[in-house]
Amino acid sequence: MLVLDQEPAQSLGGQAFWSLGGLFLVDTPEQRRMGVHDSLQLAWADWLGSAKFDRPEDHWPRQWARAYVEFAAGEKRAWLAAQGLRLIPVVGWAERGDGRAEGHGNSVPRFHLTWGTGPGVLEPFVRRVREHVDAGRIRLLFRRRVDGLVLEGGAVTGVRGAVLAPSDVERGRPSSREEVGEFAVRAQAVIVTSGGIGGDVDLVRRAWPARLSTPPREVVVGVPAHVDGRMLAIAQDAGASLINPDRMWHYVEGLRNWDPIWPQHGIRILPGPSSLWLDARGRRLPAPFYPGFDTLGTLRHLRGTGYDHSWFVLTQKVIEKEFALSGSEQNPDFTGKDLRLLASRLGSGAPGPVEAFKQHGADFVVADTLTELVDGMNRVGGPGDDGTALIDEQELRALIEARDRQLANPFGKDAQVSAIRAARRYRGDRIMRTAAPHAFLDPANGPLIAVRLNILTRKTLGGLETDLSGRALRPAGSRCPGSTPPAR
Ligand SMILES: Cc1cc2nc3c(=O)[nH]c(=O)nc-3n(C[C@H](O)[C@H](O)[C@H](O)COP(=O)(O)OP(=O)(O)OC[C@H]3O[C@@H](n4cnc5c(N)ncnc54)[C@H](O)[C@@H]3O)c2cc1C
Repeated sequence: MLVLDQEPAQSLGGQAFWSLGGLFLVDTPEQRRMGVHDSLQLAWADWLGSAKFDRPEDHWPRQWARAYVEFAAGEKRAWLAAQGLRLIPVVGWAERGDGRAEGHGNSVPRFHLTWGTGPGVLEPFVRRVREHVDAGRIRLLFRRRVDGLVLEGGAVTGVRGAVLAPSDVERGRPSSREEVGEFAVRAQAVIVTSGGIGGDVDLVRRAWPARLSTPPREVVVGVPAHVDGRMLAIAQDAGASLINPDRMWHYVEGLRNWDPIWPQHGIRILPGPSSLWLDARGRRLPAPFYPGFDTLGTLRHLRGTGYDHSWFVLTQKVIEKEFALSGSEQNPDFTGKDLRLLASRLGSGAPGPVEAFKQHGADFVVADTLTELVDGMNRVGGPGDDGTALIDEQELRALIEARDRQLANPFGKDAQVSAIRAARRYRGDRIMRTAAPHAFLDPANGPLIAVRLNILTRKTLGGLETDLSGRALRPAGSRCPGSTPPAR
C-alpha cells in the first residue's frame, strides 16, 4: 500500500493532530458514572433531529449515520481502549440543542475528551502505520500532490500529480507549492481521504447556501492551509458524485489567534452557557441561541443581522470556569497528560492559554466599569455603516440589569438563567463548565469582559457520495470502478 500526502513527513496525521480529540460515544461507563442515561435509540433520534435528512441524495448519508451511531454505541470505545486510547472521565455536553425534543442537539453529554487530545487520538494509528512501514507493507510518500485520477476504460487505475519541493516547515504551517517533478502511480484501488474545504475561504463562500443568507466578508480559519478541498473537484472531474456541498459547519465563537500557526488562524471558544450573547449592535440573541446550544441556528440568525461579528459579555468568574479553547495546542494539560497542570484548571484563575488570549487577543475587552467596557467594544467592533457607535451603553446596562434581577429568586422568566441552573444539575458542568449564577454588574464578580466573536470555518459536511463499503458512486448512483473515497 502506498500513502501519498502533499504535506511533509512532520505533518503526518493532518487535522487530527490539532483537534481536541473529542469523541462521540454513546452509553459509556464514563457517562454512567456521571449519572447520564444514554442509549442507541436516544442518540439516533438526536442524530436525525440534527441531520434533518430530507433529500434523495441523503440515502447513503443516512445509512452512514446509522452505522456510525451503532459503532459509537458498540465496539468503538472497546476498540480504542484496546489501542491504548484513554478518556477523560468528565463527559462534555456539546450542542445542547434548539429547544425542541425532536430538534437539533445532544439530549445528554456525549463529548468524550481523549487523554492526550488530538495527538492522543493519532498515536495508535501512527503506531500501527509505522509497524506496517517497518514490515514493508506500507510506503509513505510525502510531498506528492495528487492533481488527477487516472481513468482507463471508465475505471480509476491510479493517480498522477506533482512532486513538491522538500519542506521543513513546522507542522501546521503552510508548506510551499513549488513543483520539482511529476509522478504517476497505478493501483488496484484508490482511496481518497483528503479532508474538506475549510482552508479555502473562496471555496467556502462559493458553496455558501442561501438559507444562511450571504457569506461573511470576514472569517477566521479553523483548519490548516492543506485543507484546500482540491481533491473533491478532482474526484468529481473523474466522474465521482459530489453531494450536499451546501452543508457545512462553521462555528460562531471564533477568536483571531494572537499567536497564529496557519493563515487567518482562528481558535474556537468552547463556551459554557453563562455568557450573554449579543449581536454586533448589542441586541441579545433570541432563545435558544445561548453559548454551546445550536451552532448552525445561531449562524443563521447572525447572518441576518448584517454584521459578521457578535459579542459575548461575561465576568471574570465566567471566564475562569466556562472558557475552554478548542485545539490540542490550547490545552497543554490534556495534551501533555500533565496532572499538575490539569489540577490548576480547577483552582482560581483562567487556564493559561485563556488568560493569554485575555491579555493579547485582539478580540478581548477587559474593564472594571460598564462605561469602559462599552468604549472598548465600540473601539474593537468598529462603527456601524453610518459611522455611529454600534453599542449603546444605556441599552446594554438595562439589559444586564434586567438579567441580574432574575437571580434574586431560584425561579424566574429568563430562559438562559433557567438553562444555566439546569446545566448545573449535571455534575460534569457543575465541576468544570458552569459558573454559579451571579450578578454581572456586581464588581465582586469582575472585571467585566467582552469578547468579539468571528465566524470560524471548520467542518465540511458534504462530500463524495459513497456506499457503505466506501465505494465512490457516480451521479446516477452506479459505482466508479476502482475508486474508493470515504472523504467526509
Ligand atoms: C482545531 C481543531 C479541533 C478539532 N476538534 C475536533 C474534536 O474535538 N472532535 C472531532 O471529532 N473532530 C475535531 N476536529 C475535526 C477533525 O480533526 C477532522 O474532521 C479530521 O481530522 C479530518 O480528517 P481527514 O482525514 O478527513 O482530513 P485531513 O486531516 O485534512 O487529512 C487530509 C490529508 O490529505 C492530504 N491531501 C489533501 N489533498 C491532497 C492532494 N491533492 N494530494 C495529496 N495529499 C492531499 C492533506 O495534506 C492531509 O494530510 C477538529 C479540527 C481542528 C482543526
